[in-house]
This record gives sequence, C-alpha cells and structure tokens, in this order.
Amino acid sequence: MKKSNKGAQDRWKGSLQDNYGTPALKLERGKGSIVWDSDGNRYLDFLGGIATTVVGHAHPSVVSAVSHQISELSHVSNFYMHEPALKLAEILKGFTGEDSARIFFCNSGAEANEAALKLSRLTGRNRIISTEGAFHGRTIGALSLTGQSAKRTPFLPLLKNVKFLPYGDITAMERAINRKVAMVILEPIQGENGVVVPPLGYLKAVRELCDSNGVLLCIDAVQTGMGRTGSWFGYEHEGITPDIITMAKGLGGGLPLGAMIAVTPQTPRFSPGQHGSTFGGNPVSCAAGLAAIDVITKKNLLERAQKIGARIKSELSRVEGVEIVRGEGLLLGIVLHGDYSAQLVDRARENGLLLNAPHKRVIRIAPALTITDAQTGEFIKKFKLSLAQVRMEHLG
Ligand SMILES: *Cc1c(COP(=O)(O)O)cnc(C)c1O
Repeated sequence: MKKSNKGAQDRWKGSLQDNYGTPALKLERGKGSIVWDSDGNRYLDFLGGIATTVVGHAHPSVVSAVSHQISELSHVSNFYMHEPALKLAEILKGFTGEDSARIFFCNSGAEANEAALKLSRLTGRNRIISTEGAFHGRTIGALSLTGQSAKRTPFLPLLKNVKFLPYGDITAMERAINRKVAMVILEPIQGENGVVVPPLGYLKAVRELCDSNGVLLCIDAVQTGMGRTGSWFGYEHEGITPDIITMAKGLGGGLPLGAMIAVTPQTPRFSPGQHGSTFGGNPVSCAAGLAAIDVITKKNLLERAQKIGARIKSELSRVEGVEIVRGEGLLLGIVLHGDYSAQLVDRARENGLLLNAPHKRVIRIAPALTITDAQTGEFIKKFKLSLAQVRMEHLG
C-alpha cells in the first residue's frame, strides 16, 4: 500500500541531507486544500506548505498568471525593471498606508530579515533586541535574531549585540531599550514557537518605547502576512505603524518570494550597491503573488480567515484533550493536554489530514484561506477522531 512513499524514502536517504528528517509522504499533486501522495491517497492539507499556499494548490488564477508570465519573461535580473515587481511593490506600499514605504524584494523570510538587519546598521547603531522563542530564519544573520537555543547552539558564535527578552513582557522591554539600540524585531504572533500570542497592547507599547528611544521597530510578518490572521500583515489590530516589515511565506502565492519594506520616513533606505539579490522579485514569483492578492481581495478572504478561524477555535476548544486554541484567523495553535502532538500528526496523516507540531504539545494549522466550510467540517471531524485515538493509546 505505502510502497511508493516507502521507495521515495529510501531514495531520499540515499541522496538528501537529514536536516528535515525523512518525510513520510511523497506528494504528487494538489487542488485547493487537497493533496494526493504517490500511492494515490488523499489528504486534507491544513499545513498549507507552512502558511505559503494562501489560495490553495493549483488555483486557476495563479496557474494562469504564472503560465502567462513565464511564457513572456522569466527572469531579467535587477538591472532591468518589469511590471510584476512594480505592481506588487505599489500594492504592498498601499497595504502599509504610508507614502514613504519602499520595498526591497528577495526570495525568503531569512533573506528579508537579513535585509532588515543590514538596513538597521545604517542607523549607525548595531544593538538589536529580539525575543525568546522568536524565529526569524536560518542564515547566520537571521539565526542571530532567532531566540531558540536548539537551533543556535551548534552554530555559535553568532552575531553579538543581540538581546533576547521574554516575549510579551513590556517591563523587560522598558528596561532593555535605550538610545544605543538600532532595532527591535518582533513577530505579531510567534508562529514557529507554537503560535504564541502576546498580550493585547504589547506591540503598541513597544512602538512607543521605540519612538522615545529613536529605535526602529521591525515587524516580522513572514508567517502572519498575506491575510492569514485576517489583516494583510498581522499587526494592524494594534493600530501601529512599524518602521520595517518583513514578509515571505504566503507572499508568492506558493512560489518563493520575500520582501523587506522600509515603511516610515525615519527608516534608512539602501543606496545603490548596498544590497541585492539576483532572483529577488523574480517576475514569475511576483506574478503569482499578484494573482494571490487579487483572489484574496475579490473573494474577501481576510474576513473569511477570521470567520473560519473563529469557528475552528470555538468547536475545538470544547474537545476533550484540548487545553486552548490560540492564534488569529487561520494561524492557530491547538494546545493539547499532553505531550503527544507528534503522535497526533502521525495519526492524523493516517486519517487523511496533514498537520504540523511545532512544539510537543502544540499543533499548528495554517490552511489556505480558500478553505471551504465543508473542508473545515472535515478537518474538525478528523482532528477529533485522531486526537481521541492518540489519547486512547497514550492514556492506556
Ligand atoms: C518561516 C519564517 C522565517 C524564515 O523564512 P524562510 O523563508 O524559511 O527563510 C522568518 N520569520 C518567520 C516569522 C517565519 O515564520
């Protein structure tokens, strides 16, 4: 039955590094929120490529935009302009609401945060404040901002002058911030850390502390962006304007694309020669991102993300074995009563549901914003069944 996935596992072990472990499945195709593996098994995809496939797999608008773009112009380098990058930059600038916003395109979240880190050096200061549990990427620079020791330890020493404060703790921020700090970097919700939500008012209070110390506030919207939490970036409910916004994951509608947006007038801008990326803002990725934004806007998917998220929260909070469901919109962390999230991921997969466990007692879901009501119902049913099975095994 599992022969084909199994065969792929042997090939993987024979030719790929083990940094991801060996995946259980080899996927062949997808449509919306459904994917099929090499053995023909069907799965409901509630991970969504880790919050990347915002409008699902093979969305007709994305397929058509990408096909058209690659048949016209695939890549030109940044020595030349092209319409998809111009248009996408204008739209992102519009989302920030600031006329001073200027975009730099790259290919990934780590690169977006690298760009922010470099930009912050142009203030003449070099101290950074980040938070415990934060995830900002895997390159040496981005890893230096990442507050997770398991990911850092084998690669020490990293950049000095990065201080990690407890996430959500405004008193700690008050104590640590001063006029020598270049930048504070924060996720509106800590995604990789298990969908950890800070207290309401935290971002606003940090914004005020940054203002009074002349410190740049960088919002890492790599995971919360592209409408996932019910707004375009994930910080809007706090009524703040960040100095820098970084994006990636969903930005390319399933293709690799990142962006670093210098928002406010007091934020430095790169001058010619100071930064770059060969593939950054590639026409095909930008065309895919534009198509995804068009779908999200026309289908009111921001509102829908909130509505479906609220339904999942309310229905799953009442389930035996679930402690709490936290997060916003369609970035949710389901906190379990016991340390069996990894077993639950395996069980759910056997039941035809793809989930992810960023923490031993937290399941993260980040489905496409196009998820249907029926698929939401199927998810709830399969989640409950899988959890009941795991609890049976676990509690004896
Ligand atoms: C995933 C993620 C990153 C890193 O993005 P990559 O594209 O994997 O480099 C950075 N910040 C946050 C908040 C993320 O969720």
